Amino acid sequence: MFCRIIAGALPSRRAYEDDRAVAFADIKPAAPVHLVIAPRQHLASLADLEEEDAELAGHLVWVAAKLGRDLCPGGWRLVANVGEEGGQTVGHLHLHLLGGRQLGTLG
Ligand code: 5GP
Repeated sequence: MFCRIIAGALPSRRAYEDDRAVAFADIKPAAPVHLVIAPRQHLASLADLEEEDAELAGHLVWVAAKLGRDLCPGGWRLVANVGEEGGQTVGHLHLHLLGGRQLGTLG
């Protein structure tokens, strides 16, 4: 489904895009700023990352840092849910950028 959002076949509120990555507003935001950052290339999850994907993974983190700096000057959280037990519901690798309010401690 994210493949269709990334391709523009499904509408989304985009915060950033380039030739490798797209960042768009989560449809069910968990914080005032809640962006999904996904690669255009289809990878099912972080668990599928191979060594040759390391540069792409770094690029996704850079996109998160750029957006976080711009949109959440007080700080932000970067989350990747991986697999069923990790709470992943969409099978296309993505990061969640959360911010715009005080976030609680983990656990
Ligand atoms: P996951 O649970 O896989 O880590 O994250 C999937 C996220 O995608 C969820 O936070 C969910 O709200 C969001 N999401 C699911 N469907 C859509 C959609 O059609 N559009 C947008 N913008 N976000 C979606």
